[in-house]
Amino acid sequence: MSQQDNRGRRRPQHSNGTGRHAAGRRNQGDYSSGRTKQRSASGNRSADRPSSQRSAKRPANASHKRPSTAGQQPRSRSAAPQQRRRPNPNQAANQQRRRQAPPAPRKASPQLIAAAVVAVIVLAIGGFILFRHLTTKQLTVNGQQIVVASNATPRTLVEDGVVSPTPGNLMAIDGSLLSKGDGELCSTMADGNPVGVDDPIPANTTVQIDNGKNTTEDYDEQQESIPFQKATGDTSFSGYWTGSIHLLSDGEDGTKTTRTGKQSGITVEEVTKQPIDAGYVIYSAKPEDKVIALTFDDGPWDDSTSAILDILEQNNAKATFFTIGQQIKGHEDLIKREAQLGCQVLTHTYDHADGSGQGVDIGLMSASEQVQEVEKGYKAIADVLGEEPKHILRAPGGNFNDDSITTLWDYVDAEIGWDVDTEDWSKPGSDAIAKMIMSATPGNVILMHDGGGDRSQTVAALKETLPQLVQQGYKFITIDELLAYGKPTSMSSSAGSSSSSGSTSSTTSFSDSTSGSSEKSSSDTSSESSTTSSSDSTSSSDSDTSTSASSSSSSSSMGAGSSSSTTA
Ligand SMILES: [Zn+2]
Repeated sequence: MSQQDNRGRRRPQHSNGTGRHAAGRRNQGDYSSGRTKQRSASGNRSADRPSSQRSAKRPANASHKRPSTAGQQPRSRSAAPQQRRRPNPNQAANQQRRRQAPPAPRKASPQLIAAAVVAVIVLAIGGFILFRHLTTKQLTVNGQQIVVASNATPRTLVEDGVVSPTPGNLMAIDGSLLSKGDGELCSTMADGNPVGVDDPIPANTTVQIDNGKNTTEDYDEQQESIPFQKATGDTSFSGYWTGSIHLLSDGEDGTKTTRTGKQSGITVEEVTKQPIDAGYVIYSAKPEDKVIALTFDDGPWDDSTSAILDILEQNNAKATFFTIGQQIKGHEDLIKREAQLGCQVLTHTYDHADGSGQGVDIGLMSASEQVQEVEKGYKAIADVLGEEPKHILRAPGGNFNDDSITTLWDYVDAEIGWDVDTEDWSKPGSDAIAKMIMSATPGNVILMHDGGGDRSQTVAALKETLPQLVQQGYKFITIDELLAYGKPTSMSSSAGSSSSSGSTSSTTSFSDSTSGSSEKSSSDTSSESSTTSSSDSTSSSDSDTSTSASSSSSSSSMGAGSSSSTTA
């Protein structure tokens, strides 16, 4: 309570805010003493209580001061200190008070003033910094550090002359020039992220502002269905070799997309989905993407299958394994690992058309045997992976035509041949196998074997070639992924203009059927590119143990473009 007293006594001496502060504190003390707010506010009561305590110590001072304080209570607080000072010029009384009062709080006064001044300065500086922070930002623009308004956008930087990129052009829907310089104002990346022309650029980022890109006019789009037709493909054995993909199709409608430019009025039609004819459809995929479908037959097989999976894994590559059903028992782990790596596990029949199929031609079997070969092949996979595989078959020896197409129509959706035969079954040496792998073009299906004999040459060739193809930008995909590209469209869209502009254009959605096959011919093996096996090897190419004499003249150009035949 003595400190409270001291503050109470000091109050009249201070004319500044410190005094007021002390007065406030005293009143707080009054509240805490249990008096009601009304009493404290009355002033008299508040003054009464401490006075009795003070008078015990210093009757003279207390009586001198108290009336003035009590009398000034109704006045404003700011006026009070000036009023109080007047009775105090009495130096003797002041000195007496100083002697009696503890000196420490008196000395604190200039310090508090200094602290207040410092606080004001700090607040001012802080406020300025905050203001500057809120209204500006620092950027590194095209290598130069600058401070700009906090709401600066690529457009304001261009308008303020910070950068001077060339704007892109506005293009019509058919790709012709509609308006020069009316495309994108500039192209902006901030710390590697694109920033819209009118988006605020994030502060403290490194900004690269380049020339604007061309933009295409707004357009209206309409789609209509293209009904599928009946397939007119060649179902003979020679027809088989005109493409690696053989669909047993019930037909699927395609889609035609029509776009009309809102400014130019130009209309462009494009087949965005080719219809799939109903019937036996033969084609090779011609995607614009650099993708290859590696396929391995006759596994699973000790050593070679896992060695191949190791290489696939190292190259982030997927492949498709056409398995022999009866070999799966005892090799379940290999099948599971194939699936785990994202590879596709499909059937190559249950026992490679053994028995009446003579180990190579399912067509030699009875209809019920053919169905059983396929169904048991599916089941062997399903037993391990827990789900039915896709109804996609690779027929042993590539022997799939006429009778089998009809017999297996309800059991097989697609039969997969190949575009590139590595002839690894004949053990031509890993270099020869590697050369064939490197001859592949986008969309090709490559035939190899992980089973049926010693496949160390195949393993060595893969080890050598996959990193090279990855280097060239190739991705290795499954058959399912290859089928998703669909049948290549030929130049299929051309439409009259619906406006007076008279300009007509056409585009195609996929690479057309003649350009795709030559895309990869820049590789160092292009001169030797080949897509088919040589004529005497086809019937036995699928297994080095089969010796069928049938169809010896079957192989020929796949019609895939690069057709010169090579044999190591
Ligand atoms: Zn085979």
